[in-house]
Amino acid sequence: MDLKLENISPEEMEEVQRSVLMASLEQIKGWARSNSLWPMTFGLACCAIEMMASSSAHYDLDRYGTFYRNSPRQSDVMIVSGTVTKKMAPILRRLYDQMAEPKWVIAMGSCATAGGPYVKSYSVVKGVDQIVPVDVYIPGCPPNPAALIYGINKLKEKIRYEAKTGKRVI
Ligand code: SF4
Repeated sequence: MDLKLENISPEEMEEVQRSVLMASLEQIKGWARSNSLWPMTFGLACCAIEMMASSSAHYDLDRYGTFYRNSPRQSDVMIVSGTVTKKMAPILRRLYDQMAEPKWVIAMGSCATAGGPYVKSYSVVKGVDQIVPVDVYIPGCPPNPAALIYGINKLKEKIRYEAKTGKRVI
């Protein structure tokens, strides 16, 4: 078979366009990573109930390739759902540091995003982004599982964008 471009018939060209995918290695890695996110659950209060419900039969988060793990070593995204107290903050940071790169963080709910109803409390951190870098914020008190799934899909878009452009967006 002559593989010179000018010798390819229109039918062969059509077949090539249908069968060949051109992408950089980073783009393929970003595509693969974004479609197999394994979140480490960091449920701290009421928002955690909604996070747990996302993997129930009704919402079925698993169908997107997203499976909850209980170990930072097996996780690439941390979902912080609930009120982050100052006492819990160093533990959260330690677990984040134990996750392998590349890694991402989702702040789920008003408490994790900015302190929520406890914003005036002396014992509450006013947003988990004071401890770890946050990629996606999901508002609500609490956000429902559909909002969490929407947030995870936004993170997937972000991962693919970062892989395509080579830029880290925070
Ligand atoms: S945002 Fe609301 S529902 Fe979520 S942990 Fe805080 S108080 Fe509870």
